[in-house]
Amino acid sequence: MERMYVIKIGEISLKGGNRRIFEKRLTNNIHRQLGDIHVVITGRSGRFYLHYDGENQAEIEKIEYTLAHVFGIVAFSKTVKVEKNIDDIKKACGDIADKLMAEGNHKTFKIKAMRADKSFPLSSYQLDCELGGVVLDKYPDLKVDLKHPDFSITCELRDKAYLYGPDTKGLFGLPTGCAGRGILLLSGGIDSPVAGYMMAKRGLALEAIYFHTYPFTSDKSLNKVIHLAEILSTYVPSIKLHVVNYTPVQTHISEKCHKNESTLLSRAAMMKISHYVCGARDCNSLVTGESLSQVASQTAESLRFTGSSTDYPIFRPLIGMDKEEITTIAKKIGTYETSILPYDDCCSMFAPEFPLTKPVFEKIKESYDFLKIDELLPEAVRSIETYTMADGKTIEEKKKVLSDFSL
Ligand code: ATP
Ligand code: MG
Repeated sequence: MERMYVIKIGEISLKGGNRRIFEKRLTNNIHRQLGDIHVVITGRSGRFYLHYDGENQAEIEKIEYTLAHVFGIVAFSKTVKVEKNIDDIKKACGDIADKLMAEGNHKTFKIKAMRADKSFPLSSYQLDCELGGVVLDKYPDLKVDLKHPDFSITCELRDKAYLYGPDTKGLFGLPTGCAGRGILLLSGGIDSPVAGYMMAKRGLALEAIYFHTYPFTSDKSLNKVIHLAEILSTYVPSIKLHVVNYTPVQTHISEKCHKNESTLLSRAAMMKISHYVCGARDCNSLVTGESLSQVASQTAESLRFTGSSTDYPIFRPLIGMDKEEITTIAKKIGTYETSILPYDDCCSMFAPEFPLTKPVFEKIKESYDFLKIDELLPEAVRSIETYTMADGKTIEEKKKVLSDFSL
């Protein structure tokens, strides 16, 4: 039996001349997430239809999971396609009502008819009444409620008649990749995975970079970051995670600098390495989980300095959010439980007791140059090992994907 889903797209339908590019990206992303599962996606004018000709329950579940996890979809519903004649339409409507009534204790309903094909002999209102009559004949205790119905059945008249029950909500946003690719600075905390999710939602494909300070931070911390990247890969086609051996840079800074400057100097060096990886990997931006005033390194003055290591745009989608709001999203997207696992992270381990909150730009820049930190960065870049994640799993471990280059 052929199954169909109607897919509603939101912001993409507002795009002008390049709408087709966004639509193509969305359908490609769906196909990539579905892997071997064969589906046909057709559509136009704000609607797509996904056709699946099969009975495999695991595949059906994967299709529904994918539609709920791909950015760019506002809602989707299982759909019945019939010929545009009133008897077939009535029968399909009655069948959908039977299914919905079997699922829940519904008291009210609504019919919503839409005619893209104006040649159909009944007006939308007449069709509403006809189909409403079908449902009421079957379930006389039901009442019509146009404002807050317990369920609604939609009938769209296009090339054929498409009927469907309530929507399942999608993730909204824009198809991942239509805004290019950015480098997410991914630590093991709560914030950075949320920042990655939010930018992916705006169409940015992601690669991630993690600065590992083994043995000060254990491999459990690395595993935690790997797992966070795996979770993020359930929302985007795939993610590369670049792991930097940051220990030589971090120990040099900690040993040589004024204690209160160490976090800022370390962040500036992380930004600089990220800048080079961004260029080498053909990315267009950096993403961090920084939030204004959260900690000393996230004041305007501190961000001015740490951000000065790159001229790529730095996206900080959490900048105006408080921890509670960020935590709510982390729970929703499934990263929270991993983020709160009690493993050490280098930031807290090397954090000074009294960090600078308002660094003087010229002075801290002078400290950075005086310590000759840049001389250590090419070695850090050469140390990078890359993992590839897709579909919630690591599919490739520890590969050198960056060609050997110097800063
Ligand atoms: P938390 O929830 O503990 O605040 P966090 O990941 O936001 O976690 P911060 O100390 O606030 O940690 O760091 C600010 C930002 O700097 C992070 O969101 C992340 O983008 C980046 N960052 C910090 N440490 C690392 C690291 N070791 N590797 C990669 N990025 C890092
Ligand atoms: Mg933070």
